[in-house]
Amino acid sequence: MKKNMYKLLQVVLFLALFSFSQCKKAVQTETAPVTTVAIKNKTLITDAAPGAGGGVMMQAFYWNTTAGSWWGTINSKIASWDAAGISAIWLPPATKGQSGGSSMGYDPYDYFDFGTYNQMGSVTTRFGNLTDLNTLITNAHSHNIQVYADMVLNHCSGGTLEANPYTGTNTYTKFTPLSGKFNRSASDFHPNNIHASDEGSFGGFPDLCHAQANVSNWIYNASYSMSRYYKNTMHYDGWRFDYVKGFGAWVVQNYVNSAGGFAVAENWDGNAANLQNWVNAAGGTSSAFDFACFYAMHSAFDSNDLTHLNDDMLLKRNASKAVTFVSNHDTDIIGNKLSAYAYIMTHEGYPCVFYSDYETWLDKNKMNNLIWIHRTLAGGTTTNLWSASDQYIDRRNGYGAAPGVIVYFNGTANWQQQWVTSNWANKQIKEYTGASGWIQTVAADGRVLIQAPPYSYSIWSITGY
Ligand code: ZN
Repeated sequence: MKKNMYKLLQVVLFLALFSFSQCKKAVQTETAPVTTVAIKNKTLITDAAPGAGGGVMMQAFYWNTTAGSWWGTINSKIASWDAAGISAIWLPPATKGQSGGSSMGYDPYDYFDFGTYNQMGSVTTRFGNLTDLNTLITNAHSHNIQVYADMVLNHCSGGTLEANPYTGTNTYTKFTPLSGKFNRSASDFHPNNIHASDEGSFGGFPDLCHAQANVSNWIYNASYSMSRYYKNTMHYDGWRFDYVKGFGAWVVQNYVNSAGGFAVAENWDGNAANLQNWVNAAGGTSSAFDFACFYAMHSAFDSNDLTHLNDDMLLKRNASKAVTFVSNHDTDIIGNKLSAYAYIMTHEGYPCVFYSDYETWLDKNKMNNLIWIHRTLAGGTTTNLWSASDQYIDRRNGYGAAPGVIVYFNGTANWQQQWVTSNWANKQIKEYTGASGWIQTVAADGRVLIQAPPYSYSIWSITGY
């Protein structure tokens, strides 16, 4: 349902962007280097210390994952993800939804049934049972990988019919989950005695009223709250909040204040100022997915105009609250996806890797290389060195143990090269993705000639890593 809701928006956006993707500059041809070298990612990173450039999150599912034993599938990948430098995993909503064993979890019925109770036609969830989930979380922690829960707090699904005094009709608002926890009825949803509605509703599902004591107690306020149960009993380390456009940012703020841990919100909005405003409204307790960065990259890499990388993004306004991503279970950059990953792995923000990109669609060796670059080399402020529709070069200036990088995006069909100014006068720099394998000596004034392969990227830093 979630997927369908945004499909039309995606199509409209794609058509709009495609219409001005045709104008391309004439490009100069360079001789392709003959050297090829192994991709640099040999240094295994075996703990969650995020490294100089910070950690990397994995969205550990896709839409309609294979039903039955998903927790086991993820569990089998933890060790290799740890070795690659993944420091946190975001799991899908893990409790019983209306669709029972086929639910992706975004239709929450019983927030305390992790695959234990026979209701909604199934004991297990789509992803497995409680024991499978406990095993996965324990294993992730043994690898110092944090586990983030997907919290669907806007709406519920699967209630039975009851007479609703606020609508004068019968509504599906009677919830008596077998866990015995968080029973709900008409007054817990909109409209009720407090509100006709709140910031938003989703697809006609019963829309939780967070101003009701029964709702706030069960979500974050009381000693028996969901926030405390997920933190202390399930041992989740952090939170991904679904559809926060549907309720006040104060709900997220109160939840995070009650449970602690990292938080990131799905505020589906391509306007960076709106994202910043939401982060502020939540009192700085939660990051937000950087949809502004996503749409800028969509324009840059899907429509071949790299100047869109100059667009406003949350990561440029508030780097420590931006979670950057290239695709997720709802939306996707179709075109030069590895270049998009190169962008988020070399820039500010907390990058999130999509399961299917990593495990199925893209070159895992190249992804591991980018993760290694993020954790080892990337850091500091960003300075743009070259901005044109067909070529784009940024310099991360380094910070602490991170030496910084120069990342060069080439949107043409030929090798390109440019003279740029580095921070590494008189030093040797190396291309770290294996694109060219070249080592260049930087001039005394910091100037150096760097190259990038066709429709791809190169990433440079000082030698020695
Ligand atoms: Zn309300």
